Amino acid sequence: MKKRIAILGSTGSIGTQTLAVVREHAALFEIEVLTAGSNAELLIAQAKEFSPKAVVITDERKYELVKASLKSLEIAVYGGQEALSEVVQREHVDVVLTALVGFVGLKPTMSAIKAGKDVALANKETLVVAGELIMDLAKKHDVKILPVDSEHSAIFQCLVGESNNPIEKIYLTASGGPFRGKDIAYLSTITKKEALKHPNWIMGQKITIDSASLMNKGLEVIEAKWLFNLQVEQIDVVVHPQSIVHSLVQFEDGSLKAQMGLPDMKLPIQYALSYPERLPSNFERFDFLQYPNLSFERPDMDTFANLALAFASIKKGGNMPCILNAANEVAVAAFLNDQIGFVEMSVVIGETLEKIPFIDSPTLDDYLAIDEAGRVCAKELVTKKKKIYQIEK
Ligand code: NAD
Ligand code: MG
Repeated sequence: MKKRIAILGSTGSIGTQTLAVVREHAALFEIEVLTAGSNAELLIAQAKEFSPKAVVITDERKYELVKASLKSLEIAVYGGQEALSEVVQREHVDVVLTALVGFVGLKPTMSAIKAGKDVALANKETLVVAGELIMDLAKKHDVKILPVDSEHSAIFQCLVGESNNPIEKIYLTASGGPFRGKDIAYLSTITKKEALKHPNWIMGQKITIDSASLMNKGLEVIEAKWLFNLQVEQIDVVVHPQSIVHSLVQFEDGSLKAQMGLPDMKLPIQYALSYPERLPSNFERFDFLQYPNLSFERPDMDTFANLALAFASIKKGGNMPCILNAANEVAVAAFLNDQIGFVEMSVVIGETLEKIPFIDSPTLDDYLAIDEAGRVCAKELVTKKKKIYQIEK
């Protein structure tokens, strides 16, 4: 029987690559649900090609367009954010691939888990915000959380067959982004266009900025802690500009296992969908002779303060990673809107972390309130910085 997939965020970078995998393996996978934020045209085209049973367009202004365009097909069409949490519960969904960007992924992911659906998780922000809650819920409902993020997929693959062997340490690799080796003075001059050019990966805008600021790696440290039940001290970040070694696990005997390959998100996406099997693919193969030098270096956390902020927030725990995430979402949006500079993003995040009161063990309602408070606080800071930024510009 085919595995029936719901893709949250099917029109994005991960969503479209997931559909490419499904297209290649049409005998194994079928699409039950597709959802988009506001890209109605692409959602309609995807629905026509993959014939899902239901689609959601969360931007309600586009609902009528989607509904009218699909009316001759047997596809249920829904509008609005709340519909995401409904469609994931559908009886015939086997796995929910979460490719939404940001905090909005939290509620539908929880809803999927409660309905007993396995989750192929790309939306790392959900684990950053409420990792403990999500992992506890997954345990309670006996569902799998299958990592899609390439580093976490690498670790997951290295752990196959090692269930009785404790992890001593993991190394998350980072490309270092387009500004590796640069100093603060340089960073304070860079433009959004430069920041949106990633050397090795083509991704959505938010994660591309997060990769340039190293916040992405910080979010991944937190994601790894929860996925693999680790202490923060067991997680190290190493910069590896070629993005060939996707991450490593070190065991108690000192042995290191790495997962390697050319950077292509379709591989971790496919593995999350086919796990525990591997499927044949025509993805480009790695050629050692093209890469005579794989190099590794220490991340510069003084210059790229976001990574240090992420480590500090998960060390403190409680609501800190939720605040970090909210402030980062606001800061990235402000940077993309030319309201603040690249370096100010870290300033906004750092100040927001200081301003919101600490809570040790937040509930879901706490997280919703903290996210809101973090956003309000970060937006106020953006407004203040914006004036200075515009004068300097
Ligand atoms: P993207 O911006 O390309 O796509 C996001 C998708 O979510 C789109 O379909 C969009 O319509 C939808 N969406 C956005 N905001 C929404 C909202 N408020 N409500 C409902 N839907 C909304 O993002 P992406 O690069 O595909 O990243 C998705 C997630 O996967 C992120 O959490 C990212 O960190 C993670 N991730 C991405 C990559 C990558 O290569 N792109 C790699 C690893 C992890
Ligand atoms: Mg990653």
